[in-house]
Amino acid sequence: MKESTVHRCSKCGLCKPANLEFFKVTTSKIGLSRRCRDCIAVVARAKYVADEELREKQRQYRLDHPEEFRVYRQKWRERPENREHVRRHSREMRDAEVRNEQGRAYYRANRSAILETQRLRRLADPELAADIQRRSWQKNPMRLRINDRRRRARMLAAEGSHTAAEWQAKILEYGGRCRWCQQAINGTPHADHVIPISRGGSDDISNIVPSCETCNKRKGAKLPDEWPAPSASI
Ligand SMILES: [Zn+2]
Ligand SMILES: [Zn+2]
Repeated sequence: MKESTVHRCSKCGLCKPANLEFFKVTTSKIGLSRRCRDCIAVVARAKYVADEELREKQRQYRLDHPEEFRVYRQKWRERPENREHVRRHSREMRDAEVRNEQGRAYYRANRSAILETQRLRRLADPELAADIQRRSWQKNPMRLRINDRRRRARMLAAEGSHTAAEWQAKILEYGGRCRWCQQAINGTPHADHVIPISRGGSDDISNIVPSCETCNKRKGAKLPDEWPAPSASI
């Protein structure tokens, strides 16, 4: 094939140099791929991104063979066609690092004010606060795990403890009803800390009452007198 021959891509419709921008294939009459290299790369990339199984396998390989992967990555970075990508990526990483550092510095300088604002927001509208929290967790699942651990740590640090038998007895004592709205509880009762753990309450059975899911969520980290339980307003 001559240097000057151009071929029209069936995907993007552009005419490009046949021997540079198309693959040689034996399955077509003219011996060239119908789509240009760029268009084929876009499709391949999308397929790769969608292939969770393959990516998980590769991730595992990288973990199992750190040294091989390090060498492979170094060679990849040194290839001239990847130079621009490497440059752009390291610039992005540096910018992100600066932004993170600024965020951390701001948090350190204003920690107590930030925590107080969050606490007041939770008290003012626990449902809105929970919603904000959920959205933040969806964006960053890592934070959910960290919060889980923090909550567990707080539980462990809490005074007192109770057994499963004590909890069962407590449920019976309340006749399977919610302590707050007095309704029969559908499904599994929630163990509500009357004085929330986060506010110094104990994990002892004396501080725990059965609650329906709705009341448990609504009460959140409030003290009983900070919370208009449904029974109080009826
Ligand atoms: Zn194309
Ligand atoms: Zn209830």
